[in-house]
Amino acid sequence: MPVTAIYASRIFTPQEQLADSVILTENGRITAIGHRDEVKIPSGAIDYVAAGMTVVPGFVDVHIHGAGGHDVMEATPAALDCITSTVARYGTTSILATTVTASVDETCRSLQGIAEYIRAHEKRENIEPNVVPGVEPNNDQQNPAPATPDLAAEILGIHLEGPFISKARRGVHPPDAIARPSVEILEKFRAASDGLIRIITIAPEIPGALDLIRYAVTHGIVASIGHTDANFEQTQAAIQAGARHSVHFYNAMRPFSHRDPGVIGAILTEPDVTAEVIADGIHVAGPAIQVLLGTKGFDTVLLASDATAATGMPDGNFRLGNFEVIVKDGVCRNAEGKLAGSTLTLDRALRYIVALGVPLIDAVRMATILPARRISLAGKKGILAVGADADLVVLTPDLRIVGAMTRGAGLA
Ligand SMILES: [Zn+2]
Repeated sequence: MPVTAIYASRIFTPQEQLADSVILTENGRITAIGHRDEVKIPSGAIDYVAAGMTVVPGFVDVHIHGAGGHDVMEATPAALDCITSTVARYGTTSILATTVTASVDETCRSLQGIAEYIRAHEKRENIEPNVVPGVEPNNDQQNPAPATPDLAAEILGIHLEGPFISKARRGVHPPDAIARPSVEILEKFRAASDGLIRIITIAPEIPGALDLIRYAVTHGIVASIGHTDANFEQTQAAIQAGARHSVHFYNAMRPFSHRDPGVIGAILTEPDVTAEVIADGIHVAGPAIQVLLGTKGFDTVLLASDATAATGMPDGNFRLGNFEVIVKDGVCRNAEGKLAGSTLTLDRALRYIVALGVPLIDAVRMATILPARRISLAGKKGILAVGADADLVVLTPDLRIVGAMTRGAGLA
């Protein structure tokens, strides 16, 4: 692969801001970054000039169920190709394929398919071209980056959302498949996934949860608090046991009250625990996000999409795991009318958070280095630095995406 030189008016690494700079990429990695007077451009380099634009790292989404009409639990190469190529056009260059609660057998089947896909891509030097279906996307998702044959997000691993969650706060997860926390079941999942589970969501108040959290953490899995009716003390016990993350903060959680601060109060006051937020203006009210950011600061809040198959598609009916979601005006609900994931893309989440008053560089960090750091991939993903993967996004001044690059490829 020849060297590509990307010139930008501004770059957010996002640890710092660089003006009038250039990034060199070769063989899928960043080989140089700095002011254009300081970086030596090799002859024969392909130039990409992003005049007036801001270049930021590709977004890292640790909670995403699907896109482009497909759900990760289908777990076929065609479904996963479609999901990864669709989200990349919206700037998401890495994902954790996120399961929803299903039977142990169904979950294992999905984990196996996803793991085979990840392992196959690790081995393959040149990823086969993906074909992105031509669709008219819903609400505020117009004009994503152009589809190019080799633009595709990388699946970094798996986020198990369920089955060890609270029946009282299950959201749309099917109640019959919800299970008591069990090391034996998690072992089955770990085996089926070839050790690729990176996050597991657990409700701390369920008997056996604390042991499972300890077990997960010992085996390199981030234990995440979610779909939970836990009180303050039960949440603190989970944090004590090693839980360090929380999924879709506020959603599917025992509500906060001044005499019963519960799981929300415990996470708001614990700086070591990161909180994912679905910043689509539908799942959480803007002022509630401001409370979250005001309390925890900008360094522990991550933007995640909780996106479903409906993402990047027109309204209609889609699958989430093994049940149906109905999408109207870009909002996903199950047959009973409960919110069922989103059609959010992280470029839109970024615009939403910036509109709430968050400085752009901090908002970029919430979608890039912070999620990468949460899953211990901070030097490789979510950062523009020498040696990191060449995953990046080109943003207009009004934060629309005009180009994206995944592992050195796809910038048209
Ligand atoms: Zn959920």
